[in-house]
Amino acid sequence: MAKKAKGASPPKKLTTAQETTLIKTLNNFGNWLREKKIIKDLSHIDHVVDMPFANADWVMKVDTKKSSISFNTYVFQKCSFEYYQSILVHEFFHLAVQKVPNKEDATRVKDDFGEPLMKLIDIEADFFTALFFKEKLGYSLVKYLELYFEGSTVFSDNRIRTSKLERFIGTLLSISKMFIDHPKASQKVTDCDLYLPTITPVYTESSLHVLVIRKEHIYFDEIQAEYGDFVQIKECYTNVDTLTKKGYIEHLLKFVCKAFNITLPEKIKAELDNL
Ligand SMILES: [Zn+2]
Repeated sequence: MAKKAKGASPPKKLTTAQETTLIKTLNNFGNWLREKKIIKDLSHIDHVVDMPFANADWVMKVDTKKSSISFNTYVFQKCSFEYYQSILVHEFFHLAVQKVPNKEDATRVKDDFGEPLMKLIDIEADFFTALFFKEKLGYSLVKYLELYFEGSTVFSDNRIRTSKLERFIGTLLSISKMFIDHPKASQKVTDCDLYLPTITPVYTESSLHVLVIRKEHIYFDEIQAEYGDFVQIKECYTNVDTLTKKGYIEHLLKFVCKAFNITLPEKIKAELDNL
């Protein structure tokens, strides 16, 4: 059961230092996107960033007339600073690269092109958030999955929504592959494989179907996953209270290794053992 916040306690606020750090991170992210030649410029936004607290269902709002971006700090009530930072970077990718900054834009994508494309847009934003955390903030796969554990804990959802679970699996596969294929912190990642899965076949076959989007082309593939594996991943998503952080990450990595038919690299295993 979700814990209720005690009535009168004031909202947890970002400190001035945290706000400064966040704005610095977003600027670094923008510069990094330019270095990677993912974007040329952020011409329509001159980085006026506002961090209001609004008890409403939005995370980022962009006002192109005023050239300002607002991030709702409401979510920060429930999570750590690191996790909040990852949310902001994800949202900023929607703005800077994909040009779908507001909630309404995402809904429009869904109306125009359907649910799978909307999922893919989120998986791509998740991928580049993880890549930025790896290349610029020195995160390892295990450290990054610790953030996922937090996300699953804080935003746990007892109701399984297929599309959300598919996004969860798609992101897990896409970022894990990137980390595993590029173990060294100094290794620059130039390729990106995005996995868009559908979980429907898992009930009847021992595989999940995926659409893989590469820089150069798109192809269809299957990844190994039996119903039992799927049940475990579902646990991570819906019933995270029953798992320790280590157990949670173990589950996720077991799923990834089976899906790609690989053994977990020693370095990652050692890091996991030390949790
Ligand atoms: Zn998103």
